[in-house]
Amino acid sequence: SEPVLVADVLSKHYAVRRGLFGHASVNALNGVSFSLAQGRTLAVVGESGSGKSTLARQLTMIETPSGGTLTIGGERVTRFGSDVPAALRRRVQMVFQNPFASLNPRKTIAQTLDEPLAINTPLDRAARAARVADAMRVVGLRPEHARRYPHMFSGGQRQRIAIARAMIVEPRIVVADEPVSALDVSIQAQILNLFMDLQQQYAVSFVFISHNLAVVEHVADDVLVMYFGGVVELGDKRRVLSRPRHPYTRSLLSATPAIRASERRLQVRLSGELPSPLNPPSGCSFHPRCPMAVERCRVERPALRDVDGRSVACHRAEETGE
Ligand code: SF4
Ligand code: MG
Repeated sequence: SEPVLVADVLSKHYAVRRGLFGHASVNALNGVSFSLAQGRTLAVVGESGSGKSTLARQLTMIETPSGGTLTIGGERVTRFGSDVPAALRRRVQMVFQNPFASLNPRKTIAQTLDEPLAINTPLDRAARAARVADAMRVVGLRPEHARRYPHMFSGGQRQRIAIARAMIVEPRIVVADEPVSALDVSIQAQILNLFMDLQQQYAVSFVFISHNLAVVEHVADDVLVMYFGGVVELGDKRRVLSRPRHPYTRSLLSATPAIRASERRLQVRLSGELPSPLNPPSGCSFHPRCPMAVERCRVERPALRDVDGRSVACHRAEETGE
């Protein structure tokens, strides 16, 4: 079937000040391509600063990409920000990391959930109230609590409200940016299971941004690994997480004890920090930190190519298999 979302060499540059009078352009997103099928979950992983949140702002059409194309439901997106047509806007919804910051404390849950319906749908007041009650039930909240304010709910319940607000306009795609990382560990699995139940019921597609590989392991179908604004590895979860080919993916996995505990011999150690976007490395952007770097890596940028059933951007990807 036709993918619900296609990103094709999506890029984002920001102008930043350099010194007192200078300006520089920073590549926050560097030619990211992928497609997302209906009812599937793509997890986007990488360190903070890797471009994950920049990608989320392009996919949700909040920002205008500097280059590349975004196609949603077969329709190429040509207008961004406040110019996005309502019918297109409701197709892609977002859930944010912090349910304490993302809900207006002065609005009741009923008001919070009614707002997107009033803006995006032709439903009358009675129909909207019925939809609000349904949405609360669907995310595991009691409709009789609709008159309450956010402070009367726990963090997990608030994230359920935020998820209801995203789902209430019947989106095709939900982009969730670290949606469980602000929650107690004991609550995280419940919220992840809610996402998965909603996907089962409504065949919605998720772009699930997370730095937590245990979370990714739980929810993803496919995994996209980002480094320094670019895709370094992309493919089926089982392949990417159990047989990673990119040295950066391997280093991420070695920092996650829950995964691959039996395969410690494959670990590489990640030293140093992300390079400054003002001073991007030559060749492979991972070379200053890569334990496998050779001279070629300093000179030639590796293209994304198919190796062992996934895409990987590394000159030495053939050598990283078992
Ligand atoms: Fe490491 Fe070279 Fe592969 Fe980059 S291209 S990840 S530096 S081995
Ligand atoms: Mg982020």
